[in-house]
Amino acid sequence: MAFTNNIMIVRHKLLADLVRLWKNDQLVEKIDRLPIELSPRKSKPLGRCCIHKERAVWRYKTFPLMGLDMTDEHDEVTPLSDYARMALSRPEPDKENIMCVIDEACSSCVQINYEITNLCRGCVARSCYMNCPKGAIRFKKNGQAMIDHDTCVSCGICHKSCPYHAIVYIPVPCEEACPVKAISKDEHGIEHIDESKCIYCGKCMNACPFGAIFEISQTFDVLQRIRKGEKMVAIIAPSILGQFKTSIGQVYGAFKEIGFTDVIEVAEGAMSTTSNEAHELLEKLEEGQKFMTTSCCPSYIELVEKHIPDMKPYVSTTGSPMYYAARIAKEKHPDAKVVFVGPCVAKRKEARRDEAVDYILTFEEVGSILDGLDIQLEQVQEFSVLHTSVREAHGFAQAGGVMGAVKAYLKEEAEKINAIQVSDINKKNIALLRACAKTGKAAGQFIEVMACEGGCITGPSTHNDIVSGRRQLAQELLKRKRAMKQWIDKLRQERTLRQEEFRQLLTGCDAETLRTINEQAREVSLLHFGNKVYIRGLIEVSNCCRNNCYYCGIRKGNPNIERYRLTQESILDCCKQGYELGFRTFVLQGGEDPALTDDRIEKTVAAIRQNYPDCAITLSLGEKSRETYERFFRAGANRYLLRHETYNELHYGQLHPAGMSGKQRLQCLRDLKDIGYQTGTGIMVGSPGQTVEHIIEDIRFIEKLRPEMIGIGPFLPHHDTPFAEYPSGTVEQTLLLLSIFRLMHPSALIPATTALATLAPDGRERGILAGANVVMPNLSPREERKKYELYNDKASLGAESAEGLAMLQKQLNAIGYRISTERGDFSSG
Ligand code: SAM
Repeated sequence: MAFTNNIMIVRHKLLADLVRLWKNDQLVEKIDRLPIELSPRKSKPLGRCCIHKERAVWRYKTFPLMGLDMTDEHDEVTPLSDYARMALSRPEPDKENIMCVIDEACSSCVQINYEITNLCRGCVARSCYMNCPKGAIRFKKNGQAMIDHDTCVSCGICHKSCPYHAIVYIPVPCEEACPVKAISKDEHGIEHIDESKCIYCGKCMNACPFGAIFEISQTFDVLQRIRKGEKMVAIIAPSILGQFKTSIGQVYGAFKEIGFTDVIEVAEGAMSTTSNEAHELLEKLEEGQKFMTTSCCPSYIELVEKHIPDMKPYVSTTGSPMYYAARIAKEKHPDAKVVFVGPCVAKRKEARRDEAVDYILTFEEVGSILDGLDIQLEQVQEFSVLHTSVREAHGFAQAGGVMGAVKAYLKEEAEKINAIQVSDINKKNIALLRACAKTGKAAGQFIEVMACEGGCITGPSTHNDIVSGRRQLAQELLKRKRAMKQWIDKLRQERTLRQEEFRQLLTGCDAETLRTINEQAREVSLLHFGNKVYIRGLIEVSNCCRNNCYYCGIRKGNPNIERYRLTQESILDCCKQGYELGFRTFVLQGGEDPALTDDRIEKTVAAIRQNYPDCAITLSLGEKSRETYERFFRAGANRYLLRHETYNELHYGQLHPAGMSGKQRLQCLRDLKDIGYQTGTGIMVGSPGQTVEHIIEDIRFIEKLRPEMIGIGPFLPHHDTPFAEYPSGTVEQTLLLLSIFRLMHPSALIPATTALATLAPDGRERGILAGANVVMPNLSPREERKKYELYNDKASLGAESAEGLAMLQKQLNAIGYRISTERGDFSSG
């Protein structure tokens, strides 16, 4: 372990000792002896007059570590055990203040700021004397100058004017470190924090050479709840990557060992901060605002609130990564308490404003907890977080990280935006921000403001020291970047990865990695198919469905759609139209409509087969019996699309009502393959409840099934479904998966889906450029298309429609591809 100074070692050790006593159920019983054990009679006092003073300092330093401060003291004879009892029995932390000064430890630094040393030569010039505006310089008998401290106003003119540098400046370290004059002495010379001015940057805490300033800890509130068996979820800031020396999996494993129910990376929340902030930035600039600042540093928010109110309109209204991560945690574990873990004092204040965050722990406290509980990181079993956040989101930990993530998100649009950093809220930077707020002008349009120099990784409550922390974070991010390249190469060569490698690829994919994997997949697709994109004419035969899938707009339980069912005649009309346009595959898709009987479908398939012997017939009509599938096959159907949606049974249960079975769906897929259909399966990306582990299970299932077609599209909410309020899957995650599947299944037929084209205006092209090689324009009668609304705003016109083939051709040509009117059957070659 590396510590910046002795004070931190002392703080760490004291808390670790308290936690050790707590672990053994001896906190109340043994805490009274702790000061004596820490400073035994014959020991040498460190920076104090005697061991009795030192023991008193130990005693009072336990207060903030137990969530108390000096105002909680009854009298000097009340034993510490009484306070420990109070700490362990309080239902909730109850202190108003975030920080406190331990007056016993505050050594009452000198009030005087300037002193003349014996380096004074008693010179003739006497500039100190001549320039002092208050006449505070006197002379000793030997001619040396001295300051009359009753008259001196500490202006420093004498200090500047002395040609011998004989006058020294003596700071009060905490006061000097505070950028907003929030800490000052009382009449007894003891420092006090004025919370109406404090921005909780924590600079005073680490500046005090006597370790007299503390944040008020919630360590025992958290530990007590865990002991009582309550569910606690840790949401952990990205700067954790620079804190502990073992793998991040082991660090998260340690949280599990402490007793946390789950670990969620705040980087996951940072993804929402990035996208929201990026959109807000564009909007504000469009509205004519000259600049916008970030909003994720709570200390900066305090600064604006308390000292630069004119800046308020320029601060982004986007929530911080903690804000979004806490909501993810609450959604996943509604009955759990959420504990933010980070390097920051100011988060304690942000948490007070956020009902989704219940407690705060710092990295420093976590280091002490691990020591106190005797958890050896190197021996801890790894725990992987289940989520998908990009590498840039982890980069939030360092200065420039938010800026970098927002720019990466905005891609080409970012080129027009000049972004600057203000990292370190010091007096100079405050003046700069004040000037920006006042004039409404700034040197950049996007200003990232961080209270700590170098970003959160140098926060006041880190476990690792600043230099090692920064280095380790940078190395960790670089390692991740290299690993990505390695997994992509391996996937292309070996067509599979190990579990952990898939996990890393899915969780650590940043913009650059996505570009690389998309390029690799595109190359593979070009090698197998050239620049041909196969077209399939999609005929949506019925929007009636007996099922109630929670995600689907045509579910039985949606009373707000106008139902329709195409007649055989109408379907044949669509085929005729499609054939003339050049389509050689017709896809009949629809809900599981009981009125579309097996007989009726069989007859329709047979009619299409007879009229268009050179065309492929694809069905996508849901789950049927093996016999039914056989009948359709015999009638002339060649292909069948049936997405398994998710391989994981529990997740399947989250997406579908009781009575629907994932197992049954998988059986259907096996039957279809067995019968001889070219079979397609797939998933929705970002469906509610989907985790990285689920996606890996899906990848493995598809790897084993080896379907001829793989359908991967984003989940999009539909306003009349139980999932109306869920967020869409992302374009990036969809493109990543398209590329993964292309690298694993070079000859599979993979569509750039309508859902992807609905999610992003250039989604179809990006899908092709990520390895897809099929598009399915809509051939349904125009008057019915709007009624087949699986999700909000489903695209069915323009290049998504069969009539729009020319437009589609143009768009594909623009990216170097062309429409192929071949049947485009699967070929393993
Ligand atoms: N009934 C057939 C079946 O079950 O396979 C075919 C029709 S179903 C509507 C076709 C596919 O649409 C589903 O497999 C599902 O993946 C996709 N889908 C449904 N609702 C969606 C949504 N809200 N967002 C994205 N895709 C959706």
